[in-house]
Amino acid sequence: MGYSTISIRSPSDAMTRLHTPTEIAKVGETAIRIKWEDEHEGSYTTRYLRASCQCAACVDEWTGEKRVSMDSIPSDIRALKIAPVGQYAIHIDWSDGHSTGIYAFDVLRKLCPCSGCLALPLSAF
Ligand SMILES: [Zn+2]
Ligand SMILES: [Zn+2]
Repeated sequence: MGYSTISIRSPSDAMTRLHTPTEIAKVGETAIRIKWEDEHEGSYTTRYLRASCQCAACVDEWTGEKRVSMDSIPSDIRALKIAPVGQYAIHIDWSDGHSTGIYAFDVLRKLCPCSGCLALPLSAF
């Protein structure tokens, strides 16, 4: 059951490798910390990640419109399982029953909420 830390083997291609996580770890129940090959590090709340799911059930394939809103996601949502998908993405099983989410590394990197990237203010979550 569960996991604490998963490691991902780096792809051989140097450009791809820069945006590859070297470590994905749970921080308590509601946050996930990702360390990147270029030593960047960011902590994502589970709710934020769940709301950022890019799968066909969460984002309209045609319009690109989000079908899931932060409000509809429990604040204590947990990642039940995180597994690498090839060398480009991770798959997350969520405690709300959503299990089709795949998060490409480049998407995850764009979502990084650290003060350096500041995609979105963490205080909003
Ligand atoms: Zn989804
Ligand atoms: Zn960042």
